[in-house]
Amino acid sequence: MTYDTLIIGAGPAGASAAAILAEYGHRVLILEREKFPRYHIGESLIPFTFGPLERLGLIPKLRQSHFVKKFSVCFVQPDGQATQPFYFFNRYDRETVAQSWQVLRSEFDQMLLDHARDRGVEVREEMSVTDLIQEDGRVVGVQAKDKEGNAHEFRARITLDCTGKESFAASRNAWRERDPYLNKVAVWTYYKGSKREPGIDEGQTTVAFVPDKGWFWHIPQHNDMVSVGVVAEGKYLSRDGVKDPKTMFHREVGENQWIKDHLSTGASTGEYWITSEYSFHSRHCSAPGLLLVGDAFAFLDPVFSSGVMLALKSGVLAAEEIHRGILADDLSPEHFANYGATIRLGIENMRKLVYAFYSPDFSFRDVIKRFPDSADEITDCLSGDVNKDFSQLWTRIREFVPLPDDLPYGLPLKGWSH
Ligand SMILES: Cc1cc2nc3c(=O)[nH]c(=O)nc-3n(C[C@H](O)[C@H](O)[C@H](O)COP(=O)(O)OP(=O)(O)OC[C@H]3O[C@@H](n4cnc5c(N)ncnc54)[C@H](O)[C@@H]3O)c2cc1C
Repeated sequence: MTYDTLIIGAGPAGASAAAILAEYGHRVLILEREKFPRYHIGESLIPFTFGPLERLGLIPKLRQSHFVKKFSVCFVQPDGQATQPFYFFNRYDRETVAQSWQVLRSEFDQMLLDHARDRGVEVREEMSVTDLIQEDGRVVGVQAKDKEGNAHEFRARITLDCTGKESFAASRNAWRERDPYLNKVAVWTYYKGSKREPGIDEGQTTVAFVPDKGWFWHIPQHNDMVSVGVVAEGKYLSRDGVKDPKTMFHREVGENQWIKDHLSTGASTGEYWITSEYSFHSRHCSAPGLLLVGDAFAFLDPVFSSGVMLALKSGVLAAEEIHRGILADDLSPEHFANYGATIRLGIENMRKLVYAFYSPDFSFRDVIKRFPDSADEITDCLSGDVNKDFSQLWTRIREFVPLPDDLPYGLPLKGWSH
């Protein structure tokens, strides 16, 4: 059987694109390597995740879920001194955008995938895609292996690479470019029974600093669990020859009094994860028969928790563009130029704030002190309202630190060179 769309990967990018395409009546197949529910990092949702979740029709389910509600973010200095929580409802509508969630990704991703199935998407789990099939200069499908090692072939009018930071197509075609300066390492674990803030602050994300622009995330989840991890330069985290993630993690706990105090009443689950050099960009958003979505297109350092919002936003936009393309009988790479430019604009805006954040001696507080009206723009970008003209903000921030130019990536590849 030939599908209209074949999707590799059932994370937020793949499941959201699939659900919308199926809703329009297209035949959609998702191939996913794992058996869901599966573990994944990326648990804090920023306010403007609301839009794509609403488009998918998932807000009622999230409201009924046991996911912890997130109303605010707070920043903590190494000595334990915390800023006032920043409440999203001071700028956004309390009933919609201003309240987000801290999710457990195994459950959240299952919810998204079930939703896609309910819309009519066919899902084959434990099916690893091993190759793209190309005929007459187009991707026409994929080869895959099931868990018994049997080979399969699937065909579709267009294939979506939603493989996350594995970035199947960009890696194989050498389109994957590392971000010049964002080469961090993250080490994390989960705690049960640690301290939480009372009342409305229970679900707040805390960003707690350690030396050398390193930082902890502290993300309260349901069942009394907390996701807690530290991000910094590899050479800082591994100083004095430390290589073991557990030792790295616990040494940094001692570098921030707030984290130390909050974790003191709880216990780690005993599992520690580590990942490195994860920021990258694909040179192309599309090629004949192929479209890149979510992390597979680009992934930024997670300091502002933008990943799931960008994955869902790109999934929804990709589906809308494919639907229009099918109606117009135009699924050429150029048809997706607007998609590529829109997602890149959001990434470039967020990326500038990430660079500013990591610049030595930079503080958003100093910018706001000199330009009080820039506070709203900073808030909008950090909250995920990323597709706006922030040129005035960048001019102002450049008075404090250099910001990177936009990378020349994300254009369609009109034809394969081989
Ligand atoms: C340390 C860290 C902390 C983060 N914190 C946050 C946060 O707080 N908030 C936030 O929003 N984001 C965060 N992120 C980012 C977030 O994890 C990602 O942006 C998000 O998961 C991207 O979704 P996706 O659908 O593009 O990819 P994924 O969620 O990675 O899904 C990709 C899927 O593709 C499947 N797959 C891969 N290869 C194949 C193959 N060959 N065949 C078949 N299937 C395949 C995988 O099994 C997987 O299920 C964080 C990331 C890191 C590294």
